[in-house]
Amino acid sequence: FGSLATKVERNPSFSSLNSDDVSYFKGVLGEKNVVQDEDRLETANIDWMHKYKGSSKLLLLPRNTEEVSKILEYCNSRRLAVVPQGGNTGLVGGSVPVFDEVIINAGSMNKIIAFDKVSGILVCEAGCILENLISYLDNQGFIMPLDLGAKGSCQIGGNVSTNAGGLRFVRYGSLHGNVLGLEAVMANGDVLDMLGTLRKDNTGYDLKHLFIGSEGSLGIVTKVSILTPPKLSSVNIAFLACEDYLSCQKLLSEAKRKLGEILSAFEFLDSHAMDLVLNHLEGVRNPLPSAVHNFYVLIETTGSGVSFDKEKLEAFLLHSMESGLISDGVLAQDINQASSFWRIREGVPEALMRAGPVYKYDLSIPVEKMYGLVEEMRLRLGQSANVVGYGHLGDGNLHLNISAPRYDDTILAQIEPYVYEWTSKHRGSISAEHGLGLMKANEIFYSKSHETVQLMASIKKLLDPNGILNPYKVLPHSRCSYS
Ligand code: FAD
Repeated sequence: FGSLATKVERNPSFSSLNSDDVSYFKGVLGEKNVVQDEDRLETANIDWMHKYKGSSKLLLLPRNTEEVSKILEYCNSRRLAVVPQGGNTGLVGGSVPVFDEVIINAGSMNKIIAFDKVSGILVCEAGCILENLISYLDNQGFIMPLDLGAKGSCQIGGNVSTNAGGLRFVRYGSLHGNVLGLEAVMANGDVLDMLGTLRKDNTGYDLKHLFIGSEGSLGIVTKVSILTPPKLSSVNIAFLACEDYLSCQKLLSEAKRKLGEILSAFEFLDSHAMDLVLNHLEGVRNPLPSAVHNFYVLIETTGSGVSFDKEKLEAFLLHSMESGLISDGVLAQDINQASSFWRIREGVPEALMRAGPVYKYDLSIPVEKMYGLVEEMRLRLGQSANVVGYGHLGDGNLHLNISAPRYDDTILAQIEPYVYEWTSKHRGSISAEHGLGLMKANEIFYSKSHETVQLMASIKKLLDPNGILNPYKVLPHSRCSYS
């Protein structure tokens, strides 16, 4: 810890917390929702990767929009900086304070407000945990349009604020399409009611999109309305091996063409990722143990015709095997085997964490070029680190992870800015789905023009003139003309 925070200077215009502030918050929220306990603060100050650590002295747990509004109105008038926090599973240092910002966690705002079984529209509070929403909808015969490995902890407000992608993106697309409305509290405490439940509404600027993916820098999301698809009866999962990356690519084009409307996930991991999962996660077995393979692909189909879908997938697999695109493969025979396949793919981030310090890059790169970066990084880093590639191949999203014995400036200098330059050169994005947070705020120019960043900064200034909302994140902080 520490070295990351020291690259940023605390904004001197922010006040420091005093006992009057704490009394005010206790008056609004009640004693037990104003947390000063050191152990609980320690957890809230550290991110999931244990890479970023702040020194906040206060964690606030509002129970409704009105409380959020009062907190922000007060913080704005006192110039107290705040960090909105959800499940704290973000991977770019966005959800924890950099210095002593007050942490506002939406976790107590976790009610389901309404669910319409005809339209599939769910309205809920921002602190609902994704997995709880998934279970709730399962009982209603519906699914969430997004799913991710952190579902047991992440909150829908955090998902919306990061515009999370995840494992179902290839089928259901972005939250910009699925979120129909939201309620957000602005820095001055004003509540923006944009909680529409309509598929179509072209009445002027659609401002909710500003909050989707703005990582808590423009307001605190308090309620969300989201379109959920019906749960279909036939889900099939295949775990496959490919000998080279070109075969993975060809398999993807074939899958889009031949599985078409039933394709619901297309994920990949390389042999380095597989080794980590097998070595660091208990009870995980390689479903294709007969040989060592270079790449593994997980394909899921979801449809409504049980025998039709299975036949379609089997024909696709047979053809891919005969044409040499896949060298081995297995189709899940029951729900346990299906979960064990998902456990491998979803377990990669956890396995990497257990292996030690990790430099994580979440990149959008044209699929045909994507794995070239992993190979180049292996050449650059040699034996000093383990370079791992996996991700949402169906969406052109690579998770490049570099597992090292320690966080070390020499290793970092080998990786950055090279990774960003390479991505920019290939017209990729330096953040596919995780956001910029603290980690990449200063790297934004690799993916956005100066004019665009200037407009972003103007919007930030308009909505949060004192800059109290999640400072040092998203927008560049050391190039002062933008801050
Ligand atoms: P936090 O981590 O608490 O916050 C993330 C950002 O959102 C911060 O900037 C925070 O200030 C802001 N924020 C949180 N709540 C609010 C709110 N109510 N209002 C305003 N701002 C808010 N991400 C993907 O996109 N796809 C994946 O497949 C994926 N897989 C993951 C797997 C694992 C094992 C882990 C650990 C993470 C993964 N992530 C993935 C990253 C992370 O889970 C997502 O970014 C998630 O959406 C964050 O939600 P959260 O509630 O934990 O938010």
